[in-house]
Amino acid sequence: MAGYKFKCKDTGMKCDFEVKSASSKDEVMQIAAVHAKVAHNMQNVPPDVAQKVSSAIKG
Ligand SMILES: [Zn+2]
Repeated sequence: MAGYKFKCKDTGMKCDFEVKSASSKDEVMQIAAVHAKVAHNMQNVPPDVAQKVSSAIKG
């Protein structure tokens, strides 16, 4: 079974963070939310960013 992949730079960030094999899109969203908080100082992920993250997830 293929994992879900996500690269932060696919959302337009200059950032090398990536998720290589999450088990679901929801898991990627959770990991990305924590990453955004820690690395990008985003206390909450705005809907437009969530949309970008969602469309950058490859499964
Ligand atoms: Zn990042």
